[in-house]
Amino acid sequence: MNHKKIGIYIHIPFCVRKCNYCDFNSFDTDLETKINYINALCAEILEYAHIFGDYSVDTVFIGGGTPSILPVELTRQFMDCLFKNFNIDTNAEISMEANPGTLDLNKIKTYKELGINRISLGLQSTVSKELKVLGRIHDYETFLDSFRMLREAGFKNINIDLMNGIPEQTYDSFIKGLKMIKELNPEHISIYSLIVEEGTPFYNQKLNLPDEDEERKMVHSIPLILGDEYHQYEISNYSKKGFECRHNIKYWRREEYLGLGLSAASFINETRFKNTDNIRDYISLFKKSGSSDIIKDLIDGKLTTKENPKFYDNNIRFSEFEHLSNDDKMSEYMFLGLRMNEGICISEFEKTFGISIYQKYGDKINLHIGEGLLDIYEDHLFLTEKGRDLANYVWSDFVGD
Ligand code: SF4
Repeated sequence: MNHKKIGIYIHIPFCVRKCNYCDFNSFDTDLETKINYINALCAEILEYAHIFGDYSVDTVFIGGGTPSILPVELTRQFMDCLFKNFNIDTNAEISMEANPGTLDLNKIKTYKELGINRISLGLQSTVSKELKVLGRIHDYETFLDSFRMLREAGFKNINIDLMNGIPEQTYDSFIKGLKMIKELNPEHISIYSLIVEEGTPFYNQKLNLPDEDEERKMVHSIPLILGDEYHQYEISNYSKKGFECRHNIKYWRREEYLGLGLSAASFINETRFKNTDNIRDYISLFKKSGSSDIIKDLIDGKLTTKENPKFYDNNIRFSEFEHLSNDDKMSEYMFLGLRMNEGICISEFEKTFGISIYQKYGDKINLHIGEGLLDIYEDHLFLTEKGRDLANYVWSDFVGD
């Protein structure tokens, strides 16, 4: 058996309705489309099993959308297909995103039975007014019911998603909410800043957003509120020791993963590719199968997407397909690695790329150290607290160079 490890991401693009800030590929649809989608997803699983079936899968992440919106039999269908066709490690981390308002005890018990051992609950805020502005379907009480049911069913690894920078949010409402969540004692807490994206309903609205200083104050208070019980291991992620999300760490460390489903992104053999964003194309594509040899040759670089217009130029199979250059790899190593609190291992960079990190990025590193945004401890280069405030500025300096 091939002992190469791989992570698997599965995208379930369905939601009850669209939130006002959301720019993910997610939408409401009928049951027939959901059934057709899961059939196509299973066909895709079978196809990739021909290429990666003997890899060892150590993480699975089922994201969305709202995966918990699916009737439980459809979840069972694709999970059974996955387990039958891939070697899933006995101690694999198997995460699923779930939204309050779409869960019940029967679903939750089935998830457990299917091998799902980590649930990420999308709460965003404990305040009804803020949830309403965001367009979320739940209130705090519904979230609490979901959390209690998960514990009752024996889930011992739960993440709660929160947001800062929400319209109407104040420093006090954020801090109060964070304390309430800490009281619940989840193993993991993710806190992202709201970004108002073009094309979302928020983009054209006049929003009462917290100002920059207030938002920064919120972010700086997070470690103080969470204290020693949680540690920050990535710019937006806090966990108890041993409960860091192993799947997401793969992204930041540039380890290999396979994305299945609509718009799902993969990173294999230093090649990044992304499935079509069009659900009709996705479903019709997997009605016919037998493309695994061509895909393997594409990933191995034996064929190019240009030689396979069916796969690329007609925008049917992949919306993106790129073999990374050496500069791309180094650039990614920098801006992804700097997301993590432990930062980048300086000697590892040289071992990986055969060039010293200072030879490649010395000027930039020195500039940001001088600005107090980067620091070095022993063999690691990492963002300082001030650097985390200005992370986008530091990262952008390593992009495309
Ligand atoms: S639940 Fe998540 S994926 Fe669905 S619309 Fe809201 S933000 Fe987007």
